[in-house]
Amino acid sequence: MNCDDSRIYLPAYLDDELDIAESLRIQKHLTECRDCRQAQDEQLALRSALRDPDLYAYPSADFSKRIEAAVRQAAKEEARSQRSSWLESLRLGSFRWFPAAAALVIVATIGVLLVINSVRSSHEQVIASAVLAGHIRSLQPGHLIDVPSSDRHTVKPWFQGKLDFSPPVPDLSELGWTLVGGRLDYVDKQPVAVLVYQRRMHNINVFLWPNHGSADDTIREEDAQGYQILHWNGAETTYWVVSDLNNAELLEFARALRGH
Ligand SMILES: [Zn+2]
Repeated sequence: MNCDDSRIYLPAYLDDELDIAESLRIQKHLTECRDCRQAQDEQLALRSALRDPDLYAYPSADFSKRIEAAVRQAAKEEARSQRSSWLESLRLGSFRWFPAAAALVIVATIGVLLVINSVRSSHEQVIASAVLAGHIRSLQPGHLIDVPSSDRHTVKPWFQGKLDFSPPVPDLSELGWTLVGGRLDYVDKQPVAVLVYQRRMHNINVFLWPNHGSADDTIREEDAQGYQILHWNGAETTYWVVSDLNNAELLEFARALRGH
């Protein structure tokens, strides 16, 4: 080892960072070279001088507080920027999710509407079957009328005490529809009012009960087993009209009834 190498390796040797072979080589040089030994002594002196406690500066309590406050503030800002970038990415992400989410909502809504419609229509089918059965039953002798009267002032009070609602009993005689009476019947296990009108010996059964759902004045038509079934939901009353009268005339009757 020459002196140039020795001076390069000396600090590492003093820090005990050389492997054994290198350490032995520099040790050998130091014993043989006075200049390098002197350089070693100078470095050792410098090192011990740097360890002098008087050379150290101790921060004041105030200075420490200011540093701590600055660090805390920086940490807070860092957290805030991370949070906002997280929100930003979430917002961007939700835009990416939007088409899929919207499609899911649409599919779910259509599904719910289909279910509601099929439940509603199947319930209406049950009611339609019940009123048709009630109509056919009423055609048997002695079943049509409980209170025979063409006077609405006789028929309407007759329902009092028999039902928990007071059915409207319109007089349509001037329009050619003769009231012949009323009776109690059961539809879907509920007691309902039935008004019976006639035209040319055709009986018209009007089943009615309070409408607790939404109103829909549109008259819906159905024909079954040779009978016409008309239905609409008035603001207060649900109407089901059944007759073997022809469709055009029964529709005329239904409109007259709806108008009262
Ligand atoms: Zn040397």
